Amino acid sequence: MASTSPPPSAQSPEELNPFAIAQEQFSHAVRYLPELDSGLVEFMIRPERVLTVEFPIQKDDGTVENFVGHRVLHNHVRGPGKGGIRFHPSVNADEVRALAAWMTWKCAVVDVPFGGAKGGVECDPTQLTEGDLRRITRRFISQLGDAIGPFVDIPAPDVNTNARTMAWIYDTYAVMHPGENNLPVVTGKPLDMGGSRGRPEATGRGVLFACEQALRRGLVDGLDSVEGATVVVQGFGNVGATAAELFHEAGARVIAISDVSGGVHNADGIDIQAALALRDETGFVKGLDGTEPISNDDLLALACDVLVPAALENQIRADNVDRIQARFVVEGANGPTTPAADRALFERGVPVLPDILANAGGVTVSYYEWVQNQENEQWEEEEVNGRLLRKMNRAVDAVVDTQERINGDLDAIGAARAERGLNGQPLGAIDLRTAAYVLAIQRVSDVTLQRGIWP
Ligand code: GLU
Repeated sequence: MASTSPPPSAQSPEELNPFAIAQEQFSHAVRYLPELDSGLVEFMIRPERVLTVEFPIQKDDGTVENFVGHRVLHNHVRGPGKGGIRFHPSVNADEVRALAAWMTWKCAVVDVPFGGAKGGVECDPTQLTEGDLRRITRRFISQLGDAIGPFVDIPAPDVNTNARTMAWIYDTYAVMHPGENNLPVVTGKPLDMGGSRGRPEATGRGVLFACEQALRRGLVDGLDSVEGATVVVQGFGNVGATAAELFHEAGARVIAISDVSGGVHNADGIDIQAALALRDETGFVKGLDGTEPISNDDLLALACDVLVPAALENQIRADNVDRIQARFVVEGANGPTTPAADRALFERGVPVLPDILANAGGVTVSYYEWVQNQENEQWEEEEVNGRLLRKMNRAVDAVVDTQERINGDLDAIGAARAERGLNGQPLGAIDLRTAAYVLAIQRVSDVTLQRGIWP
């Protein structure tokens, strides 16, 4: 399980509502696309559909408890909605709205033919049995009804859900739709029931691939490879644990990792296999042999080459960004950096490889799973990983190229804005997040106009 985000404090008056943040990121990028119709902009900033359901389940302890779940379809112009389902106490409609919007832009950045969606149930899995979780999953999915489907909206794992949860989703949907190939209704399934080889590791592997390509593109002065680089990973769930393992295998020195129980640090490098074994045994990494405990705040502030926030939203904020000493931030989580922190890092010359690019490996291999399911095929892992590598490299190149193009063209973009009577404030150079948004918004708006707006 990922670590929880701290509550907004009196010292940190910045906006921490994820949907407000997603809208701010989007609106900032739109300034660099002066030719976009304002009605089209309005269509893309808000979700197409927000479903909220409330339902009871009878728990294993005999009591009845009620739960609230959401499924948001943000945009399905480029294909069916796609995005995970998370189980977490802090889930709410605005968080799911933001996560769904980020999926739209993420799928467009890596160019997979999906739109964006997301789901979540407000619950604390640490307080629930396996039977409770199964009933929550089944009841939630049955109440979503035909709002999900292989060509409508396709769930996947996210925070605190996994292949077992996806098996229940598949089974519930299959009971409701007998006689059809329902495998493509959900991705991240177990390998023996239509899952893809390489899917469990795909997000973490994509984080490594994206980081390596960004370094090859020269984004970080004096650092052209992860080999020998020092790396800090926040979060030891599916994304963080895999990223830590793969960075280590690629020759990096992982000096700190963390989970909800706190962090562990060793400047000479952490034995990741031992950390995985301890996590499997106790659930946590705390107390790992040969390490010193470290708080999550101090972990984020460690001097390192690459910092990989791979937990939850709002970890790098206005109130702690000054302490960040990393040379490069690679976002394994969705939404770990706030806009104010983005601006501060950009001013300091610390590049941030944004979530909608860096963690897109998961949804990319979800797409490969969905393709395999249409044919009832199972590809070799080398095939999956090879395709993932090419996808991530191409996406990193496209984002870096977009950044270079826009930043070399600021005067012309400013003139185009003036011509259209748009706000004439001078345009500053853009960071990688804005470049990724510009690329994604352009791709979604192009397809919207090619299809023609109905009717
Ligand atoms: N939950 C993952 C994400 O945030 C994967 C989504 C998917 O595979 O559909 O990207």
